[in-house]
Amino acid sequence: MIVLKFGGTSVGDAARVAEACTIVESQPSPRAVVVSAASGVTNLLLEAAGVASQSKPDDLSRIVNAIREKHFGIAAGITDENERAAALAALDQLHAALDAALIDVAAAGILSKRDSDRIVATGEKSMSVLFAANLRARGTAAAHVFADRVIATDDRFSAARPDRVRTRAASDDVVRPLLGQGCTVVMTGFIGFAPDGSTTTLGRGGSDYSSTLLGAALEADEVQIWTDVPGVLSADPRQVPDARVVPAISFDEAQELAHFGAKVLHPRTIRPAVALGIPVRILSTFAPNEPGTIVTRESSGDSVKAVTAMKGLMLLTIDVPELEDLAAAAALVFGQLSLDRVEIVQVSQASSRRRMTYLVDGSAGGCSRVTRRIEDALRDSDASVGCTEDVAVVAAVGEGASAQPAALAKMLGLLDRAGVPVLASSQQANNVALVAAVPGRFAAKAVETLHEAFIGQQAASSKARRPRRSRLLGESVRVG
Ligand code: ADP
Ligand code: ASP
Ligand code: MG
Repeated sequence: MIVLKFGGTSVGDAARVAEACTIVESQPSPRAVVVSAASGVTNLLLEAAGVASQSKPDDLSRIVNAIREKHFGIAAGITDENERAAALAALDQLHAALDAALIDVAAAGILSKRDSDRIVATGEKSMSVLFAANLRARGTAAAHVFADRVIATDDRFSAARPDRVRTRAASDDVVRPLLGQGCTVVMTGFIGFAPDGSTTTLGRGGSDYSSTLLGAALEADEVQIWTDVPGVLSADPRQVPDARVVPAISFDEAQELAHFGAKVLHPRTIRPAVALGIPVRILSTFAPNEPGTIVTRESSGDSVKAVTAMKGLMLLTIDVPELEDLAAAAALVFGQLSLDRVEIVQVSQASSRRRMTYLVDGSAGGCSRVTRRIEDALRDSDASVGCTEDVAVVAAVGEGASAQPAALAKMLGLLDRAGVPVLASSQQANNVALVAAVPGRFAAKAVETLHEAFIGQQAASSKARRPRRSRLLGESVRVG
């Protein structure tokens, strides 16, 4: 049983959908497909929802038309007339439901996260209809499934957390019977359902996560994430043009890379695969015969495999006077961050100065809000709270490399020589990443510097070790 997930660019137009169908058909059955919305559609839907809440009807109809055009363009590629007609009818229904939801938002004059999720789900729902119809038109039995009947979540709209037990039950009810009938199931990525049945989303880029959640529920043999790059690369190729494919990485390394900002995987993607040891492959729809990257339990090698950065963070520092109860203060801070649903990226503590450092997601409302909330929580202590905005975290990921005692010193030395100030750093035993917080404007410089030193050098030395072609030819002549 294989799950194949296709991202937005890989289903961006009729030709890309046809290419993706060819890839699906090359895999043995039973198989399930998870699809994102066509590239650009999620952004358009979010824009439409925003514009609706501000009552700007002209802008709204322009955006809604752009969404329709995109979907109708893909529908035009369905090669069987009956399938095309049925898909267009299903699209009409989805677009009508979208219009109704937008009218509700316009009437309310405010956009709730619940409404936003319901609206944005239209992108994935439309694609699942289009993709399944394409497969059937090509003679492959297929059925679309909306994941707001399969992926059970809590009610954190726009960033919902899945419930694995309910998801497994729902997938047994909804997906397994279809697979049993020999259908290729095409499920929407990104979306789920709250306990009350409303549609939720797993956060931007969440279709990767949907694929491993479905893979775990179905106990898949493999999850394949088909995207627009030939695997996990040693850095974001948009930032480091000579980034190289990493052929194999461990679950821990992949998790760390995604956690620290490598967009190729949604941060939570790997987690569902770990418990069952399901291999996850990252492959390119533009080069389907390339081996890509395989993510498994095993870690190999002792070098840094990839460098990544995540911007838009805040660095909170909390100084607790010596007489205060450090654990109690920490409990209050964690409690407040949890209450405010602020994502914590990293925590460290310098015990001599009794300073606790928290790197947190900056979208939580900026320093003034977060500082005020934490000062309130700590009002009975003499702790002082500091906060810096626009912080980035850079991470050099590689299990063997970051376990070496001098590795962090080397990284800090490299950043120092490149003129990158470091606000905080960490390396722990058994860690898989070396991590430094730097001011946001230095993130690119830090990534380039670390990539050049840790990965550029590996490339240079493996080139030096590799026998020259002329020598190999000479040897083969001698052997022959
Ligand atoms: P999809 O739509 O298929 O989910 P995404 O755009 O979400 O694709 O993710 C793929 C993109 O992630 C790549 O085009 C690349 O720009 C970016 N990226 C960032 N870091 C990395 C990395 N280390 N390896 C590969 N791609 C990366
Ligand atoms: N379509 C959603 C997004 O753009 C989910 C995904 O592509 O993974 O965020
Ligand atoms: Mg993605």
